[in-house]
Parts: sequence; structure tokens; C-alpha cells
Amino acid sequence: MAEKRDYYEVLGVQRGATDAELKKAYRNLAKKYHPDVNPGNKEAEAKFKEANEAYEILSDSQKRSRYDQFGHAGTDPNGFGGGAGGFSDFDFGGIGDIFETFFGGSGFGGGGRSRAKRGPQKGADIKYAMEISFEEAAFGVEREINVSRMEVCSKCSGSGAKAGTQASTCQHCNGTGQVQSRQNTPFGQFINTKTCEVCKGEGKIIADPCPACNGKGKLRNNVKLKINVPAGIDDGQTISLRGEGDPGSKGGPNGDLFLNIRVKTHPLFKRQGNDVVCEVPVTFAQAALGAELEVPTLDGKVKYTVPEGTQTGSVFRLKGKGIPFLRGNGRGDQYVKVNIDVPKKLNEKQKALLKEFAELGGDEVHEQRKSFFDKMKDAFK
Ligand SMILES: [Zn+2]
Ligand SMILES: [Zn+2]
Repeated sequence: MAEKRDYYEVLGVQRGATDAELKKAYRNLAKKYHPDVNPGNKEAEAKFKEANEAYEILSDSQKRSRYDQFGHAGTDPNGFGGGAGGFSDFDFGGIGDIFETFFGGSGFGGGGRSRAKRGPQKGADIKYAMEISFEEAAFGVEREINVSRMEVCSKCSGSGAKAGTQASTCQHCNGTGQVQSRQNTPFGQFINTKTCEVCKGEGKIIADPCPACNGKGKLRNNVKLKINVPAGIDDGQTISLRGEGDPGSKGGPNGDLFLNIRVKTHPLFKRQGNDVVCEVPVTFAQAALGAELEVPTLDGKVKYTVPEGTQTGSVFRLKGKGIPFLRGNGRGDQYVKVNIDVPKKLNEKQKALLKEFAELGGDEVHEQRKSFFDKMKDAFK
């Protein structure tokens, strides 16, 4: 074979030709010199092979850049087609094969439609969970949390280019990040859009990447964030912090941070809406005679007097001792349920006194029992 011609010259394009220009030029040549169209024409076959080879190299960003730097010496003739003879093994299939070559096998019918992301993209949202105490949920708390998130690299301000250098607009896609081609085929016109292979869809080429972020423009950082947990928040509720997620790309907004709140159970209190419920044990004597009780509340212990003859299971209300309303003013109430604690172990003197109490007819004054026995009498008549 005579001395190899310049690939750009073969395709008849400028050195800075875009992907679309290369494809267009190749397509014209392939049509013109395809063996199907020129049966037995050796010159056409040679031109066809030449155009194929040029396109194979120039359509591959890596091979193209090697070729741009080193000429034919920079491209490995064994890297494609097979054998030192170049394209001797090239399969001259039907015209459809050319289009396979064009579109990387994506085929007809627009199957190659790109999923490339264009334009501004919102950053990813981050989800965290945080556990707080019952009291913290009731009255609110300020907490500091450690969040691992992507941040714009401070060394390169997100450009990805080493300090003092700049990213350049990708010539391959003119900075759009996408390469589009419109093709007239025997099957009709179709448009094929692909992510630019040269810049991987970024639209920019970074010759000298920032060493801090490896040219990504973003870095994973651990950041401390102050969280104001509002008073009245309940288990399972979420605090949203707008813009505290991962940074957006191409000018898009940051993602958000969602903080799911878990409230620890309390040894004494249960929550029902904005009310607090608790149970207080009293002795039989306290319940029968009435007593001043110490009742735990979110505000500390308060005194409450249960009246004479308090029954087990009776509930009293402490107004305004519940949980503050998340929105608006005021608080719920606290409900205290009285449980009579029947003694399990009595000493001899206590037993004697209780027996004496029973013999004095103390049992009969219990109205509940009286009505129970009345009902039982009726039932077994
Ligand atoms: Zn950087
Ligand atoms: Zn590009």
C-alpha cells in the first residue's frame, strides 16, 4: 500500500471536525464507494477501506487524540480489522452494516436515544435518622449532626480543573455534552442522540484535573449541621432541610436533607397525640382514705390529692401538662391513671389488722362488690 493519507484528508474534513461532520463525510464516502454499489471496482473498494479506517480512528476519541498527536504511528493497525493488512478481513455486508457501524449497533428506530442528562440537575437528597429523648421531643432541642455529603471542591471551586487552569469547551459536542446525528436511510430519516464520548456528557474537557477532587469538582465531606428540633415533634416525623443535600450539577439546586426523628420510649410516660399518659400506683389505704400524691410530669413532680374512695383504674387530668403543639400555642394535658397496689407480703400484725377490718364489716361498704353480689344472686335464682 502506498503511503497512508491523512485521515482527515481521506474523509475531506477539517482537523477540528465534529462527530457529526465526521459521520456525514464518512456516510457520503461509504455510500459512494460501497462494494455493493461498485461491484468489481478495485479502486472503489480501496477507497471504501480507506474511509472505513479513517472513520474508525477519528470516531473513537482516544484513537483520534493519539492520531492527532502522533499521526499514523499513534494508531495500532492491529487494533481493528485484524492483521497487518489493515482491512482485509473487513466484512462487506449489506448497506445496513454501514449503519450498524455508524451507530454502534444501536440500530434503527431510535433505539439509541440518549439517557444523557441535559441542563441543570438537582443534587441528590440525603436521608438520616436521629434519635431523641421523650423530653427533647416535647420541648425541642438543638442538636449537631455529622452528615456525609458531596460538596463543591473548594480547591477548584467545582470546575474540576487544577488551580490556575481552566476547563475548555468540548469541541466534539460544542459543549452540549451530546452528539446528535440526523440520518437519511433507506428506512426513512431518524435522529440519533448519544452522550458525547469525548467529554462523557460534561461538555467540558479538563486537561489538567484538580488533584484534590480528581477533576470531579465535588468531594465527599463530613459536615456538622445544627438542627433545631421543634418542640412537639413526634416519633416518625421528618425534618426537611432544604438545600442541605448533595450539590446540584450544571447550576442545578442542591438536594435536600431529610431527618427522620425517632423518639425513645420513656420509662413513665406514653404519648397520645399531644397528651401524656402515665400510671401511678397507690396503696389500698391511700385510695380508701384519700392522699396527697407526688405525680411525675414533664415539668417535674407535682402534688395531686386523690379523694377518699378512689377506685383503681380511675383517671385524673392535669391540664396543660402535656406536650406543646408543634404548630401554634398551648400544650396537651396529662392523664394519670391510678392503680391500687395490692400488697403481696404482709407481716403478722398487718394481717391481723386486715382481718379485724374485715370483721368490722369493712368489706361490705364496697359498693362495687355489693352490686356484684346482687347481680350474681339474680343470675343464679
Ligand atoms: Zn477540585
Ligand atoms: Zn463533548
